[in-house]
Amino acid sequence: MKTIGLIGGMSWESTVTYYKVINETVKEQLGGLHSAKCILYSVDFQEIETCQARGEWEKSGEILTEAAKALERAGAELLLICTNTMHKVAPQVSEGVKVPLLHIAQATAEQLHLSHITRVGLLGTKYTMEQDFYKEVLRQQGIEVLTPGEKDRELVNDVIYKELCLGIISPQSRKEYVRIIQQLSRQGAQGVILGCTEIGLLVSEKDTSVPLFDTTLIHGRQAALAALEE
Ligand code: GLU
Repeated sequence: MKTIGLIGGMSWESTVTYYKVINETVKEQLGGLHSAKCILYSVDFQEIETCQARGEWEKSGEILTEAAKALERAGAELLLICTNTMHKVAPQVSEGVKVPLLHIAQATAEQLHLSHITRVGLLGTKYTMEQDFYKEVLRQQGIEVLTPGEKDRELVNDVIYKELCLGIISPQSRKEYVRIIQQLSRQGAQGVILGCTEIGLLVSEKDTSVPLFDTTLIHGRQAALAALEE
């Protein structure tokens, strides 16, 4: 079994889910008392969020590259950046290390292909919904991406930073998210990507009949399966 290196803490609320799904997948595959070999480097999210807000992506990339290098030195053989948004600096991070980085949008695209989805809704931070670094990876895989209108994008973004990353789960926000998911579905989305690693803490498949693709679960599971590959 390979050792997985997690660059986490963005936010730590969702890193907990990563740890759980990675271990659950290894247990499901190997049985008994088997669990994942993994190393966590958890950053101070306030520092990262400040960089985002100031547009200092290069600086945030340096922080994550230092984390990646530390994980590599500690013996990680496969790396995950445990957030969708910070994949904006994934190319910078993977240039700084020799071990492979498993890209969250790439992992999600593979899951969408398995479900025969070619047009998908995307929920995430404003950076993920509005910039190209994430949507382009999906488009290159032949997947069309729909995002909510401006007001709803703001709502989705605010709930992430002002509630979910602080561990606040609000039934009112869940209602709003479900409304937005259903609207994307009416606009032709065959499914919706929960493209922020905390959204799964708020909504899940039991809240809507629209197929949901939770990036935390997809990314974590793929990493565990990759770690078990011969
Ligand atoms: N965890 C979130 C994501 O997947 C947002 C936090 C961040 O800005 O990294 O995008």
